[in-house]
Amino acid sequence: MEKYNLPEGMRYASLEERKRFYIREFDIEKIGKWLETRKGSTKFAVIIGRHTRIYPKEYEEDADTTIIIDEYKDLSDVRQQIAEFCPESAYYDRNIYDEDDRKTGQELAFDLDPENITCPIHGSLADKMRRGQGLGFCTLELEMAKQQALTLYDYLEREFSLLKIVYSGRGFHVHVFDEAANGLSEKKRHEIARRVKKKGFAIDEWVTVGEMRLIRLPYSLNGLVSRIVLPLEKKELEQFDPLHDRRVIPSFQLR
Ligand SMILES: [Zn+2]
Repeated sequence: MEKYNLPEGMRYASLEERKRFYIREFDIEKIGKWLETRKGSTKFAVIIGRHTRIYPKEYEEDADTTIIIDEYKDLSDVRQQIAEFCPESAYYDRNIYDEDDRKTGQELAFDLDPENITCPIHGSLADKMRRGQGLGFCTLELEMAKQQALTLYDYLEREFSLLKIVYSGRGFHVHVFDEAANGLSEKKRHEIARRVKKKGFAIDEWVTVGEMRLIRLPYSLNGLVSRIVLPLEKKELEQFDPLHDRRVIPSFQLR
């Protein structure tokens, strides 16, 4: 089986590039729009250098840690805190909390990652793991993940009405914003995840069942591949090319 790393142009972002992105390019207005239908306050999180092993010296001890950002004045403050950490990844917490910080629900989401797709060239996730390339993926897998996102959207549309697709830098997420979905029980989420998996979708079940409450923050930088996380309209997705679309390429990669 062939070895590979990442599609052309995709690479780790440096600390300097991460910093510059969060200071100059990170669009907090758009994040405000993305989060506006959520009830209560939102928690954010960063991982500084778990996969890339790139981190500011002063955060060496916390390079692997998931750092929760739940004390902030406004989104501008969140931006400042993220910029301070220069993280490889930024997330938000899909859980919904009441004033006493008790969990009252969770935004439903589906995570389609290219590494979960069995590739005619590179094999299954198990094959990739065996080679120590669990995080690698190829252009073909990315394209297959995109096609799955389109089909999954159609499939979920029969049950839900407020769906959004996000390009995560690696694969695609489908978010469900229906109020009714927030209150789904754990059992029901397991059922949905199993059903979707059975249909052949390469989803990461942990995200759908809620064990993994964090999801990549739209408009943040995916520092593993140097791409901007971007919500997309379903009609845009068919033509969307993550290798060349300028909206997902940070300025440090634009020529
Ligand atoms: Zn492949």
